Parts: sequence; structure tokens; C-alpha cells
Amino acid sequence: MDIFKAVRRLFFLFQELTIIYVCNKLPSMKYNYSVTDKMKNFEKICREQGVPLTVQRRAVLETLAGRFDHPTADQIFEDVTQRLPDLSRTTVYRVLETLVLLGVIHKAQHLGSAARYDPNTERHHHLTCLNCHKVVDMEDEILDQIRIPKTSSKEFEITDYSVHFKGYCADCASNKKKLKTSQK
Ligand SMILES: [Zn+2]
Ligand SMILES: [Zn+2]
Repeated sequence: MDIFKAVRRLFFLFQELTIIYVCNKLPSMKYNYSVTDKMKNFEKICREQGVPLTVQRRAVLETLAGRFDHPTADQIFEDVTQRLPDLSRTTVYRVLETLVLLGVIHKAQHLGSAARYDPNTERHHHLTCLNCHKVVDMEDEILDQIRIPKTSSKEFEITDYSVHFKGYCADCASNKKKLKTSQK
């Protein structure tokens, strides 16, 4: 084999290794988990918590892993029943509540809108649109470092926190602008 071919081979091997390295790094990025990565993470939490992963629970988790929009229980029910048509609304609700209680998923409750379910259990914050109720994840290092106040005198134990910002998403903000201009 001539030296030129050998060098080229080595170069491609190096490129391939770099790509593999970068791909392996990806799951550590907070919001870029693939459905498979999220399912692996769910399975790990269930194993640690000693929670059996029933067909229903798996279906609910797979639905949630594939969405980034913080769906409501009804939206999850609609999605899950496309795969398991015999599943009742009550069962889906019960499965969701159990998974929240066990810390496998998070429930975000913002005043004035239906509870939303979140596959992301790491500390993060939310931007909520006051018009279409869209919920978007947000990360901010400073918000993550808020000092948890001492509340023993209030007889209250803080276990966690997240910051919830209210406002308008790009679509709703531009619709509002259009509406204002047409009313002038
Ligand atoms: Zn909106
Ligand atoms: Zn979230």
C-alpha cells in the first residue's frame, strides 16, 4: 500500500473517531436528548426506584419522550391511544400521577392553565405564553444558583424550585402587533 493511501486512511479514521466522540458527548446536553436517550434515562430511574415498567407506563413515557412542548394529560392520552387504543383516560391520568410521584417525570403547574407534563427532570425554568399557553424550557446558570431561603420558622420545607416567566411567544407577539395596527 502506498504511503499516500495509508495517510488518507488514517485521516478518515481520525475524522470518524471525532464524529463518534462528538455524538457520545451529545446526551450530556440538557435539551438535546434523543427519544432513545430519554427512554434509557427513564428506564434507569425506574430501576433505581424499583418501579416496574408496565406496557402502559412505557407507552406514556415513550409519548412524553418524543415531545418537547410540555403536553397536558389530555394531549398525552390522545397520543398514547393511537398506539394502545384500549387504554382509558383514567389509566393514563393515573400512570402520569404515579410517574410524577416517583420522580420519573415532572409536572409543571402554572396558575390559570392545565397541568403540563415534562420529561426533563433536571432543574430548568419555563417561559409560558399568556395567549397560546405554550411552555418553553429555559436554562440560566444564575437562576440555577438561587440561594434557597431558610423557612423552618414558616413550618415549610422547600424541596426544589423553578422560575416561571410569563409573556408572549414570537407568534402571539406578532399577532398582537398586527391586531394593534389594524385597530388604529
Ligand atoms: Zn403564544
Ligand atoms: Zn420543562
